[in-house]
Amino acid sequence: MPSSIAPTGPDAPQALPLVIVGAGLAAWTVARELRKLDTQRSIVMLSGDSADFYAKPTLSNALAQKRSAAQLVTTPAAKMAETLQVQLLPHTLVRSLDTGARTLSYEDAAGQSHSLHYGDLVLATGADPIRLPMAGSAAAQVQSINHLQDLARFHEALGVAPKTVLVIGAGLIGCEFANDLLIGGYAVHVVDPSPRPLALLLPAGAGEQLQDALQAQGVVWHLGTTVQSLDADASSGRLQATLANGTSVQVDAVLSAVGLRANTALAGAAGIACERGVVVDAHVQTSAPHVYALGDCAQYASAGARVLPYVMPIMNAAKALAATLAGQPTELVFPLMPVAVKTPALPIVVAAPHPAQSGQWSQDEGLEAGAGGVWRFIDGAGQQRGFVLTGKQTARRMELAKTTLL
Ligand SMILES: Cc1cc2nc3c(=O)[nH]c(=O)nc-3n(C[C@H](O)[C@H](O)[C@H](O)COP(=O)(O)OP(=O)(O)OC[C@H]3O[C@@H](n4cnc5c(N)ncnc54)[C@H](O)[C@@H]3O)c2cc1C
Repeated sequence: MPSSIAPTGPDAPQALPLVIVGAGLAAWTVARELRKLDTQRSIVMLSGDSADFYAKPTLSNALAQKRSAAQLVTTPAAKMAETLQVQLLPHTLVRSLDTGARTLSYEDAAGQSHSLHYGDLVLATGADPIRLPMAGSAAAQVQSINHLQDLARFHEALGVAPKTVLVIGAGLIGCEFANDLLIGGYAVHVVDPSPRPLALLLPAGAGEQLQDALQAQGVVWHLGTTVQSLDADASSGRLQATLANGTSVQVDAVLSAVGLRANTALAGAAGIACERGVVVDAHVQTSAPHVYALGDCAQYASAGARVLPYVMPIMNAAKALAATLAGQPTELVFPLMPVAVKTPALPIVVAAPHPAQSGQWSQDEGLEAGAGGVWRFIDGAGQQRGFVLTGKQTARRMELAKTTLL
């Protein structure tokens, strides 16, 4: 029989707990911001994982920092819960929501079902790595890294001997892992159908600089092609990747970094509007009353209906949402949020223009060779709407941000 943590007192949202689903950066940041404004409200947090606090961006520079997955944890879950006065239920999966009755059902670590009544509900369920279909006897050995336990599993697969790793995807996360693996002493191959790395984010010249910088440190690029199959090679005990261009590469591990898809399953099944993410309005509220969403699972009206799977949007959304939950309805307005790409071979800062923004990239001239580059995205009226800085020019981030219109 399902048990139930029943509320006591009047059935008003403020008298019932704030329930947060998830324990990543989005979930913990909402709890922390709310505690600055409200020390009384009961907060319950349910998480499918251990809920230990760590900075997810450190997953892709753990080798450079010489840290294991366990060493990336900055604050254990119990300490976070105590500090923020949160009732934490780790290793707990929320199975369904009833937004009419304002209840959810969940399965605890022992497999027991329960239900819980909420006053307000925050969905911070993150995103899942996209898996491309692949043929071959070793296709199941392709790994992705989006959580601490994924990194632990990947490090285990790498073992201790020098190895060759194939990275599928030359986007931000693929390039960061490729650079980190080089620093860790691994041989690295990267495959991507695009003509250059970070093709969706960077102007061609900046992408080419990154391609050259990583190649100079040892990355073998396979651009304009895809992996067709991955097979176990019985004679060598290694993996054989066959590419669509006919090349075949022998490797010891394969890491897929082809993108993330917002985790909307729970919201979608409850009839909450979802598109590329859980749709939220300018108050971070979903289509259901008293249900909010932020982080990698959310699609923000305040960002022109985009998902923004980065740290800075979470910080801004959590602040606005905490104020709303504390009784001061606050619209989320995103500032310019440049992203630093963690590729020490060529550091990069990107302030991407809105995808619907028309305009053209232009490169600043007159910089010395080896001094990095500056690209500005200029609209039809001559206004700067985005920028990319590489190498030493990344120090000019604040200066460029001041002259960029949102
Ligand atoms: C390798 C890597 C490097 C990155 N580097 C950068 C960077 O340099 N700069 C930057 O700005 N951003 C970076 N990012 C992105 C950034 O880290 C994320 O945007 C952010 O951490 C997402 O946090 P989140 O809380 O939304 O999601 P998550 O951290 O994924 O948390 C989701 C939580 O929801 C829980 N959950 C899901 N479903 C359920 C359920 N049904 N029941 C209970 N719990 C559930 C999960 O267990 C988890 O606790 C990087 C991401 C990766 C993967």
